[in-house]
Amino acid sequence: MRDVEQTKQSTEGIRSVYIHIPFCRNICYYCDFNKVFLEGQPVDRYLDGLAKEIEWTLQDVPQRLATLYIGGGTPSTLTLVQWRKLFADLEKYFQLLPDCEFTIEVNPEDVSRELAELFAAQRVNRISMGVQTFNEKLLKKIGRKHTAADVYRAIEAFQTAGITNISVDLINALPGETLADYEETLAEALALDLPHYSFYSLILEERTLFSQWERHGKLVLPEEDLSADMYERTVAALEKAGRKRYEISNFALPGKESKHNLVYWNNQEYFGFGAGASGNFAGCRTQNIGPVAHYLKKISVGELPYRTHHLESRQEAIEDEMFLGLRKASGVSFAEFFTRFGQTLDEVYGPVIERFIDQGLLVKEADRIHLTPQGFLLGNIVFAGFLQD
Ligand code: SF4
Repeated sequence: MRDVEQTKQSTEGIRSVYIHIPFCRNICYYCDFNKVFLEGQPVDRYLDGLAKEIEWTLQDVPQRLATLYIGGGTPSTLTLVQWRKLFADLEKYFQLLPDCEFTIEVNPEDVSRELAELFAAQRVNRISMGVQTFNEKLLKKIGRKHTAADVYRAIEAFQTAGITNISVDLINALPGETLADYEETLAEALALDLPHYSFYSLILEERTLFSQWERHGKLVLPEEDLSADMYERTVAALEKAGRKRYEISNFALPGKESKHNLVYWNNQEYFGFGAGASGNFAGCRTQNIGPVAHYLKKISVGELPYRTHHLESRQEAIEDEMFLGLRKASGVSFAEFFTRFGQTLDEVYGPVIERFIDQGLLVKEADRIHLTPQGFLLGNIVFAGFLQD
């Protein structure tokens, strides 16, 4: 680990924090996120552990935050009492700057009027809600427990409490989903007239129920072409509704882009606290231990719960800059790249860039390089081209 004094100084300017709450009331069939089934979990001990991890990491260096993000798992599985404790702990360690973006992820079925009011009173000003689809049959098929009515109720509760900066997550290419089904969901989502939307295509991940079913021939997913059609319809519908695509999966009204997620894509520094959380600060990439029991064990013996913690090499930092920056519609700036790394983008990646431009996947525009509409569909091929073999 780095010298304490050195770390103290170098964490002073960090303005973003991610906090992970890994618990879920039920496990969705497609999910490979870092999460654990809530029942029987030591949630109170986890919150104590989280407070210790924050205290030990900050070492009394005051942190004034521009963005704070509590994600999961499902943070909204916490009880009101647990939320009050967590907010009180956060208040001890962090000061929110006047325009701090404070986001919490919620599932619709957990939201009550009391929860919405508590969030508003604690300066939470952005909500990210896991909706996935408005089609009740599909919701059941993917193992979600909420209904479309829960979504409307939850959004109303937050809006009534004064939190209007709401984003919903939607997933397309669900098992058995037709283009017509998807268009209905898209229309319902847009009718909510929210400032921000995130859209993902279902991907079969190892160690999920869906991948088991698929291996046994019990799950049929839409063809890739249909998934690409759904993405194209999404882009067209969202842009028509004034929500610009600013990242592969994210669309927002001007000024309503997620400031916190932009910290990741701009390859800027942030702390990550909690089981499985990752961080990027003081020149290091950190990744915490995932399983809650192992995380708590480390804390109980007075150690920071890192699974990995390493100084990032220059090559890794350059790759991150490209891999993350090209996700954004605005792409990567030639001038910023030079300021950061002392070499021009062309010196480092000239032939790669030319190849992708020839293939119609990247385009140079003024000081920036970014994906073309075709490049957005084939982003993973482009990103891989910027990684060292
Ligand atoms: S999708 Fe969300 S709610 Fe469902 S299991 Fe994964 S983290 Fe939990």
